[in-house]
Amino acid sequence: MSNTAVNEPTDLIIVGAGIVGLAHAYHAQRRGLSVRVIERDSRPNGASIRNFGHCCITAQHGDLLQTAYRSREGWRQAAADIGFWAPESGAFVVARSEAEMAVVQQLNAERGGDAVKLLSAAELAGKLGGAPDPQIAGGAHLPADLRVDPRTTAGQIAAWLEQRDNVRIEWNTSVRNLGGGIVATSRGEFRADKVIVCVGHDMDYLYPELAERYQVQRSALQMALAPAPSTFTTDAAVLTGTSMTRYDAFTAMPGAAAVREEIYRNSPELIDMVANVMFTRRPDGTLLLGDSHVYGNTVDPFLDEWWTDRLVGEISKVLGAPLQITQRWQGVYASSALTSLLVEEPDEQTRVVTVTSGIGMTMSFGIAAESIDTICPENASAIAAG
Ligand SMILES: Cc1cc2nc3c(=O)[nH]c(=O)nc-3n(C[C@H](O)[C@H](O)[C@H](O)COP(=O)(O)OP(=O)(O)OC[C@H]3O[C@@H](n4cnc5c(N)ncnc54)[C@H](O)[C@@H]3O)c2cc1C
Repeated sequence: MSNTAVNEPTDLIIVGAGIVGLAHAYHAQRRGLSVRVIERDSRPNGASIRNFGHCCITAQHGDLLQTAYRSREGWRQAAADIGFWAPESGAFVVARSEAEMAVVQQLNAERGGDAVKLLSAAELAGKLGGAPDPQIAGGAHLPADLRVDPRTTAGQIAAWLEQRDNVRIEWNTSVRNLGGGIVATSRGEFRADKVIVCVGHDMDYLYPELAERYQVQRSALQMALAPAPSTFTTDAAVLTGTSMTRYDAFTAMPGAAAVREEIYRNSPELIDMVANVMFTRRPDGTLLLGDSHVYGNTVDPFLDEWWTDRLVGEISKVLGAPLQITQRWQGVYASSALTSLLVEEPDEQTRVVTVTSGIGMTMSFGIAAESIDTICPENASAIAAG
């Protein structure tokens, strides 16, 4: 039990115990702040446990790239402190046409061979194991990318935080409204000097006007799980051609439009379902497979079996091995056409932080470090250096 007492005001309240809220709590407790996390569920159960566990550092672009590298350091530090699985295995990008290979080469030319290491078809096939797709033209390894296990990591971070003297987590407690350092919940009122709201795609319930201003919608994804073929043993994430139509570093390349046109010509259904065909291996040897995207303020909960078949079939083709699905699920994250990261301060005490694109795992520890810098500037540089 922490020393942060039940009704005592704290330095900081964080609403939401997904990865964004927990990363804020992690950085805040390191700075010595007293922290109360308020979460409506009994454990993390949102986007942060339903994803690929891919910290996709290299594929970020512009201002977000620097924050992504800061996030990488935060992830490494948290993994060392807490002891969760976080291999620095990087990611592989599989190119299966000349157009896809051109984009990989363009990114290599921009970032250099240390960040984007080009691989021949034979080298990449060796990394994937088995008898992968003969259409593979080559690809790249992105060594800065990290992996975590999405199903266990947030829970491990929460359990570790609860052991700190200066952190308390209020589970099963729903925030109804807040402002000016006062947070009204289903279990009464809490107070703090600062409140950071990290409720992901449900930010529209607390801040409908903000959600409208930023055109925040829900993005619903179809995912599946299957045992990995015995020949596929890498912890690295695997991205494919459709990934080049999704991540900003690829879409900024001059050849990106040609990749999109080629996929539309050959497999229009992948563009129609807004696919990002990718997969990651969990430490228990299962594969996380996905994904498709549907957007709306309210999204249908129903999974389209044909879409799952198509996505899994595509991954099976890349690996050259059949995949036996054992689970399917829907994941939802916040999305905005205007920005990938929404940070707003509705009043002096309140900060709303929502990742409005599918990169919240990647960015969480970097965004959180920047947030805590702003509320705790006096020791920011000392901590960054340490
Ligand atoms: C299928 C899928 C695959 C993805 N793959 C990746 C990936 O590989 N890499 C990557 O970087 N990103 C990925 N993402 C995106 C990433 O998962 C999200 O951006 C990130 O998890 C968002 O974290 P969060 O903490 O904001 O949201 P959540 O994890 O959804 O947490 C929000 C929390 O707030 C709580 N909450 C909400 N309202 C209230 C309230 N009123 N009171 C109290 N608590 C409240 C919720 O219960 C929840 O626990 C993926 C997302 C999905 C769905």
